[in-house]
Amino acid sequence: MLVQEAVASACARTGRDPAGVQLVAVSKTVGVDRLAAAVAAGLSVLGENRVQEAEAKAPQLPGARWHLIGPLQSNKARRAAGLFEVIETVDSGELARRLDRLVGESVVVTEKAATGGAGAGGSAPPLGVFLQVNIDRDAAKSGFPPEVLEAELPAIAALRNLNLLGLMTVGRLVSSAEEARPTFVRLRKLSERLRSEVPTLGPGLSMGMSDDYAVAVEEGATVIRVGRAIFGERPAVRPEANGAGRRAAADPPSPGRPPGP
Ligand SMILES: *Cc1c(COP(=O)(O)O)cnc(C)c1O
Repeated sequence: MLVQEAVASACARTGRDPAGVQLVAVSKTVGVDRLAAAVAAGLSVLGENRVQEAEAKAPQLPGARWHLIGPLQSNKARRAAGLFEVIETVDSGELARRLDRLVGESVVVTEKAATGGAGAGGSAPPLGVFLQVNIDRDAAKSGFPPEVLEAELPAIAALRNLNLLGLMTVGRLVSSAEEARPTFVRLRKLSERLRSEVPTLGPGLSMGMSDDYAVAVEEGATVIRVGRAIFGERPAVRPEANGAGRRAAADPPSPGRPPGP
């Protein structure tokens, strides 16, 4: 397959092992029949940007593992924690604390169900998360501003039910892959600096999409999120929104977070 070949040659150019790059096949808007074929062909890690869409697809795709790649509203955090193997879009300390609490609670519930009483102890399998960074300081993108992440990271790193896999970013829309390179370099350097301060932050870097994943791999991506280059163009979200299809599909307007309890 084309994407895997391009990843292999980007790795060869930079002396990386292709096994260090995980391909997340971004399956938003793609029907389950096509996804079943993709999973059967070995593309078993699927990325969705809406909790509801993943919930609808997951029961029909038992072999798939799911990454959440879109903004997570606090009222859907519990469902998301139960479904996704990795949540790539943790963009506030508040969301991190909520997910940590939910994972902790779900273990208690499971143990109660299993033993009929108080849990016998044992530690929670932590939830894998990436901290999303707005590395380009783009007003249209979500994610921690870098200095806010730096301030909040020690407290987030202390949350025992989260496994901090690394940093994630959604790059600006650019007209060539090469223009995206500085974004990827900035995320890598931020990761290196933060990890020297907080060693429990993992080395993962989720960066790169269909138009620029090869450059992202050259700059150290460990996760690439690729939709159109695998499944073809997505239909525009709103047919009447002329020319906004790609933008709308890639980064849907968020209805905003309802206030948490
Ligand atoms: C849709 C989406 C992708 C995949 O975009 P393509 O251009 O189809 O590769 C990657 N990351 C995020 C956050 C997305 O919303």
